[in-house]
Amino acid sequence: MCSSPNGDADTNGVQEMVAVETRQNGMNGSRARNGTAHHHGANGHSFGTQHHNPYAPRASDFLNNVCNFKIIESTLREGEQFANSFFDTDTKIAIAKALDNFGVEYLELTSPAASEQSRRDCEAICKLGLKAKILTHIRCHMDDARIAVETGVDGVDVVIGTSSFLREFSHGKDMSYITKIAIEVINFVKSKGIEVRFSTEDSFRSDLVDLLSIYQTVDKIGVDRVGIADTVGCANPRQVYELVRTLRGVVGCDIEIHLHNDTGMAIANAYTALEAGATHIDTSVLGIGERVGITPLGGLVACLYAANPEYVKSKYNLGMLREIENLVAEAVEVNVPFSNPITGYVAFTHKAGIHAKAILNNPSTYEILKPEDFGLTRYVSIGHRLTGWNAVKSRVEQLGLQLSDDEVKDATAKIKELADVRTQSMDDVDSLLRVYHSGIQSGALEVGQKETLDRLLREHRATQLGTA
Ligand SMILES: [Zn+2]
Repeated sequence: MCSSPNGDADTNGVQEMVAVETRQNGMNGSRARNGTAHHHGANGHSFGTQHHNPYAPRASDFLNNVCNFKIIESTLREGEQFANSFFDTDTKIAIAKALDNFGVEYLELTSPAASEQSRRDCEAICKLGLKAKILTHIRCHMDDARIAVETGVDGVDVVIGTSSFLREFSHGKDMSYITKIAIEVINFVKSKGIEVRFSTEDSFRSDLVDLLSIYQTVDKIGVDRVGIADTVGCANPRQVYELVRTLRGVVGCDIEIHLHNDTGMAIANAYTALEAGATHIDTSVLGIGERVGITPLGGLVACLYAANPEYVKSKYNLGMLREIENLVAEAVEVNVPFSNPITGYVAFTHKAGIHAKAILNNPSTYEILKPEDFGLTRYVSIGHRLTGWNAVKSRVEQLGLQLSDDEVKDATAKIKELADVRTQSMDDVDSLLRVYHSGIQSGALEVGQKETLDRLLREHRATQLGTA
């Protein structure tokens, strides 16, 4: 669909065909195991009470799982495909425990068929007795499935390529062969009494009729979840919405989505997938994975917290996010990006004077995420030329100094003058305020006496150099 100029039109056509079925699912209570049968939308409105209101919730709003989703954390599978990754057993166990404490519902591990150590690590993590369910990710192949079910996992994620590229250049199998082997593997995993998911690979560049047909087939034989994968990171939010919504209309099982971030869309696409009825989102810590990786756990949490803070707080131990990101960043030798949602070092730093004033009065003015909910603190930067006297006044109060508003404004003018030459550190600002305050207290300084203030500051610097 990404590559075809007619792709969108095709999707629309199929969506129209299945729209009626979708509504029936929503209203009658579908077979979906996780998400779509609940009767309250994100806004809490009851269904069926507002027939005459054109703005009343529509049937499609009841597909929305923004407040009813599960995270499949794939740092220990997708994350192993990150260029810098090499996790030894202890590191894998530390990451698994941290993610389990955070509260993710599933951990996905590298296929035990990949290597002997991968198999041993998979078994070791299964034995930890974590609350999170343990999954492993395998090719749609009986040899892999036989190894996987022996490791003690709670479920197996099966994947096979369905795009014409993969069918031609990778495994070379046609759809009837893919369907036959999928049925065999799914039935085998189910016979062991554990969860099974069937996913296509490169779903957004696969033929829609092929996709829907194989998903319907595996749904009929009782797969727990079907997975959509934007393996190449080509999808945009509208394409994601249309494909998930279409699929929601033709299968009753849960829907998982795996989204690569090549164009920076992974978080937006994950959010949209939930709106369209997906139930499970794949993430990795800091988004690490093949190429630039997938939907990052922290960014997705920020996005879903913004939609419903209470729900997200009740599910996850948000105060652990920074620790988990630091753990993984260190393990793969990268830094947490400055602009990372929540934990980037500027995430809660406010600079402009006009912002600082409002933030100090009511943080919600310029913050949709509360730093304290993540065990973090906000920082109002004041030693720069854009500063304002309200922010400086708040610092004066924090330092326990007594200055009138006129005196604070006068001191602020001096900070701005100095900051026009170079940015002032918090220490610089604090000393200036202390010098200003003691000048006022001793009677040596009055508002507007610029030269006296300059002299007092010079004397202060000289004393400091003398004592240093
Ligand atoms: Zn991937």
